[in-house]
Amino acid sequence: MIYTLGIDIGSTTTKCVILGDGNKYIADSLVIGGAGTKAPDEAFKLALKEASLEKESLSAVLATGYGRFNFSETSLQMSELSCHARGAYHVYPETRTIIDIGGQDAKVINLSPQGKIANFVMNDKCAAGTGRFLDVMAGVLQLKIDDFEMEADKADKSIRISNTCTVFAESEVISQLAKGENISNIVKGICESVATRVSYLAKRTNIEESICISGGVARNGAVRKALENELGRKIKYSQKSQFLGALGAASYAFEKFESSKEVL
Ligand code: ADP
Repeated sequence: MIYTLGIDIGSTTTKCVILGDGNKYIADSLVIGGAGTKAPDEAFKLALKEASLEKESLSAVLATGYGRFNFSETSLQMSELSCHARGAYHVYPETRTIIDIGGQDAKVINLSPQGKIANFVMNDKCAAGTGRFLDVMAGVLQLKIDDFEMEADKADKSIRISNTCTVFAESEVISQLAKGENISNIVKGICESVATRVSYLAKRTNIEESICISGGVARNGAVRKALENELGRKIKYSQKSQFLGALGAASYAFEKFESSKEVL
């Protein structure tokens, strides 16, 4: 079997996927920490360990994401837009719109029926509508980001956050806490606020059926549900949503190996 590894070095986390023959999902790894940290090397080793493979068994390695140019294990790189598109097409061939919400940016990518990028919009200027917004709020509320969905589920109403600026929104949350407002209701409001920001971005494109979501924030069911309400459409999600970029990178690595037939 031909093994290839894709590594997605983001702003916040590093993800790896190992594929067999370009389509069999062998293993993955996720390490908190992105560009400029030890996370890429750790994630690389962890994925090999998960797959019980040695580095020498890999025919090609391809890096994507924000930190893709600084990874010593490969000289192959590809943009995260291309890799997300490829990864999403791999999992959901009928996908025409991808909503990717990462640690520091959000993107909406429209695909042709053949899985090629037709157009995209991106927010990388403002933390609102990204994982960063959630991470800041988790700090204020002293909650783990993984607990946001469960907290939001317990809410009996939603405390809408009116400030779009993360710094002001943080003060708003602090004042709600000081008023004694229920944390679950605040968490629901925070998740809805992220969904509203992303839906504004999505509405700048021709959102096409069918829609899928990628990136770490996709793991939060409260954000997904709020986004479906905002857009009035179902959004496909898989447990592996955070790995779609790395999956696309592994698939491109296979393609590059096949066209050169040299270990890359
Ligand atoms: P990047 O590729 O930009 O590094 P990711 O797509 O890996 O980012 O997403 C990272 C973000 O995912 C974090 O900022 C965090 O807010 C969010 N995240 C991670 N796990 C969860 C979770 N269980 N629930 C909600 N959000 C999560």
